[in-house]
Amino acid sequence: MSLSIGQIEAHYARLPEGFFAALPPTPVAAPRLIAFNDSLARELGLSIDGVSPEELARLFSGNEIPRGATPVAVAYAGHQFGSFVPQLGDGRAILLGEVRDRSGQLRDIAFKGSGRTPYSRGGDGRAALGPVLREYIVSEAMHALGVPTTRALAAVLTGERVLREQGPLPGAVFTRVASSHLRVGTFQFFAAREDQDSLRALLTFAIERHDPSAKESDNPALAFLNGVIERQAHLIARWMALGFVHGVMNTDNMTISGETIDYGPCAFMEAYDPATVFSSIDQFGRYAYGRQAAIAQWNLARLAEALLPLIDTDEEQAVKQASDAISGFAHLYHKAYDEAFRTKLGLKKREDEDHDLVASLLLRMQQKQADFTLTFRAFLSAVDPQSDQTLRQYLGDDDVTDALITRWRERLLREGVSQTDIETRIKAANPKRIPRNHRVEEAIQAAQVSDDFEPFHRLARALQCPYDDDPEYETYEAPAAPHERVRVTFCGT
Ligand code: AMP
Ligand code: MG
Repeated sequence: MSLSIGQIEAHYARLPEGFFAALPPTPVAAPRLIAFNDSLARELGLSIDGVSPEELARLFSGNEIPRGATPVAVAYAGHQFGSFVPQLGDGRAILLGEVRDRSGQLRDIAFKGSGRTPYSRGGDGRAALGPVLREYIVSEAMHALGVPTTRALAAVLTGERVLREQGPLPGAVFTRVASSHLRVGTFQFFAAREDQDSLRALLTFAIERHDPSAKESDNPALAFLNGVIERQAHLIARWMALGFVHGVMNTDNMTISGETIDYGPCAFMEAYDPATVFSSIDQFGRYAYGRQAAIAQWNLARLAEALLPLIDTDEEQAVKQASDAISGFAHLYHKAYDEAFRTKLGLKKREDEDHDLVASLLLRMQQKQADFTLTFRAFLSAVDPQSDQTLRQYLGDDDVTDALITRWRERLLREGVSQTDIETRIKAANPKRIPRNHRVEEAIQAAQVSDDFEPFHRLARALQCPYDDDPEYETYEAPAAPHERVRVTFCGT
């Protein structure tokens, strides 16, 4: 008899043929539970009380299909590093179905690393433990940092080895929760086939899920496009405000929902530098920290192209409307970016000069190779004019820093709120802890080499409350020492 973990529905799996391939996950040899996200399970309304770790391991390895699930591998296309690949799809992922969470929203539950599918091409359909732990840590940290993101529900060891460049590695299955798995590449898949019926069905599905108000619009496709543009503008601004580098912003790794998805070679920048790149395969810095907004806009233009026939039957008209929408991204993004950085400096009112103040600060940080996270957090201690030594440690103790701090203090005065209020604002906007690469690597190594998951669990706990002062987690605050520094990250799929 199969286990029930709640009401799993089949929405995506009821779309027409061609949207997916129906197949179950491939069972694994010896599932063992690494982590299960109880609070997310509760948020989703899953009934897991009394379910043993062994049963959870069977369920979240794909060895036992929960009642009601209709497993499918989803089709999509995508531009990878600028080149269009007409067929990608879930090569190692399976969508189990959707559940309605406590607030009534539909959420996808999907496996990653659950075996080969018709979209696997040359791949083995499996995931190595390292990337599974990385996605678990970083996606949950992003959530705690207030960034829209897919979530981590479970990680399970398979008891099987997967062969990667480094040799045989422990295999794992990751369970991801998303407000949907629709990507820019999902639209491109049908647009490339000039399959307008499917494109229309996909648009209807996406609007129902993410932009129900677009149904009332004169032009639902355009209203939907504008919705995606707005969500992505806000998302990228949040990434920038935290120093997050996604690393593989291919159009198949960009959601319609505005959630961050597909944590591969992602990493957080330490010393501020817009040219920061970590991914081993991003040789030309296409996806560098400072290029993320431009790339997002490029990706959104690909979405707009896919939607053209649904925006207007007159191609010229459609192109004009879509281009105007895409141009709007820059404005929305700059507004969100300025607001995010103003907030980091404790400012709520908008003044024209603020952008320049932030730019001057960032330039100084770049010259001094100042740690992005800790420099902003140091503004907390500098609200009191008597105590700006910490900030000066990062920015340098000279006239340039004097001028910057003076300018900022004058600006604080014009906010007209108390010192305590400013401190509360700065603390709430600037995390003390981010998933630093060397700490993530350390947790992965302990698990991979010594089967020791304690560093992983401890790091994950430390990142659940990234804005709080907590002496217990002090070790996670400092940037990497030169010998610890991780300069290159790998997809390592
Ligand atoms: P990613 O780089 O993880 O976004 O994946 C890009 C494409 O490669 C997607 O279609 C994946 O499903 C596919 N893929 C990645 N790793 C594997 C694997 N181990 N086996 C099969 N397909 C894979
Ligand atoms: Mg992907």
